[in-house]
Amino acid sequence: NPFSYAPAPESRSIVDIAPSYGLFIDGEFTEGSGEDRNKTLSPATEEVLAEYVQANEEDVDRAVRAARKAFEKWSALPGAERGKYLFRIARIIQERSRELAVLETLDNGKPIRETRDADLPLVAAHFFYYAGWADKLGHAGFGPDPRPLGVAGQVIPWNFPLLMLAWKIAPALATGNTVVLKPAETTPLSALFFADICRQAGLPKGVVNIVTGDGRTGAALVNHPDIAKVAFTGSTAVGKAIARQLAGTDKKLTLELGGKGANIVFDDAPIDQAVEGIVNGIFFNQGQVCCAGSRLLVQESIQEELLDSLKRRLSTLRLGDPLDKNTDIGAINSAEQLARITALARTGEAEGAERWSAPCELPASGYWFAPTLFTGVTQAHTVARDEIFGPVLSVLTFRTPDEAVAKANNSQYGLSAGIWTEKGSRILAVANKLRAGVVWANTFNKFDPTSPFGGYKESGFGREGGRHGLEAYLDV
Ligand code: NAD
Repeated sequence: NPFSYAPAPESRSIVDIAPSYGLFIDGEFTEGSGEDRNKTLSPATEEVLAEYVQANEEDVDRAVRAARKAFEKWSALPGAERGKYLFRIARIIQERSRELAVLETLDNGKPIRETRDADLPLVAAHFFYYAGWADKLGHAGFGPDPRPLGVAGQVIPWNFPLLMLAWKIAPALATGNTVVLKPAETTPLSALFFADICRQAGLPKGVVNIVTGDGRTGAALVNHPDIAKVAFTGSTAVGKAIARQLAGTDKKLTLELGGKGANIVFDDAPIDQAVEGIVNGIFFNQGQVCCAGSRLLVQESIQEELLDSLKRRLSTLRLGDPLDKNTDIGAINSAEQLARITALARTGEAEGAERWSAPCELPASGYWFAPTLFTGVTQAHTVARDEIFGPVLSVLTFRTPDEAVAKANNSQYGLSAGIWTEKGSRILAVANKLRAGVVWANTFNKFDPTSPFGGYKESGFGREGGRHGLEAYLDV
């Protein structure tokens, strides 16, 4: 991997977290106008990591005005100049990636192996990729004079805090927009460290502004009259509410929402490889992934063999300290998320599905959930339909490829799917019938800045990543 360079971070001493953080507005860290503050915890230990500002409407207005002022100069810069800043940011992210990986693991609870080998390399890759676009927009089929929109209001979730920031900020800046971004309330720290990186890169003041706070801050941002475009990643319920609020305004909107991905295993699939893919599909980041393969559709004739191998493999997963580089399964991000997962798993049992959990000891403090399977699941079960957003896999069976397609598509969501088979012709035939934004074949959860990502149906609309990701930030 050309973007990974660092040895394993050993301990949290690599990162220096201040006890308290302000907002990042117009190139400076500043206090909020009100008294409200929140705390962010380490989900693995429940230790308070830092305090931060719960930004109010006045703070959001200050940030939007700074971004609006910066837009005049930033959008007038030649693309090559904007590209230089983005390249500089990408390189600083690489240089500081051990620190950022440890920080993200502390604030989110995900294993350091994932932040080190997946999140941080992808964050840098997105900035490099969009840096390269900044001077090529006039020759990319957007027409002779594609224009930026203005100030983008961006709201992101807690599952990939820095990566979601990169997906949003890199294309917005490359196309000449300025941004006000709100990170999730349980994971504000990496966005604030990113603000420091913007300063280090000499990015002009006001081009990037970070306002912290909960959904009230997010609502103030998306409803601010001087925002030209809203980019939201989060739950389907909040995405729908934002779409209703923006109806009748001239704001552009993209939504990346929930999912219930089907991982389809045919009887000719290499079982060991499929088992690894299933584990990666649903237990990566404790299943808190919008495109997780949370439904396993297995061909009936291999169900027993596959489930035996899967349970054996799950019994070897190591759950515990996310800073330990041998850890496979980290902590759940918050007490609320753990309660949601626990409640949905109870519903699965109450509705008669059979529950099996990997035999691992859960630490006494922090938020933990053992990797869990439900078998005997039918389409009517809640665990087959609702997004759990946790380490819980629902197993269904099928007999024919058509039945697999019908079951996979029987969902309110349409974000991701996986196909496991030795037959290339079957991969193409099945993939073409799946209503999912991404279909992986004989692999899962592979990401690349050059590919567009996004959903069908209630998984949202618009695409992020690739050339398509630029369109959302341009008037063509
Ligand atoms: P959430 O929708 O509650 O929160 C997401 C963000 O929206 C947070 O920053 C939150 O503060 C903010 N927010 C909350 N209410 C708001 C409002 N009324 N107006 C504006 N902003 C508001 O979601 P969550 O529980 O934090 O995240 C988990 C969900 O996100 C899951 O359902 C998951 O599928 C989804 N998700 C989707 C993707 C994707 O790319 N499709 C990626 C990650 C997460």
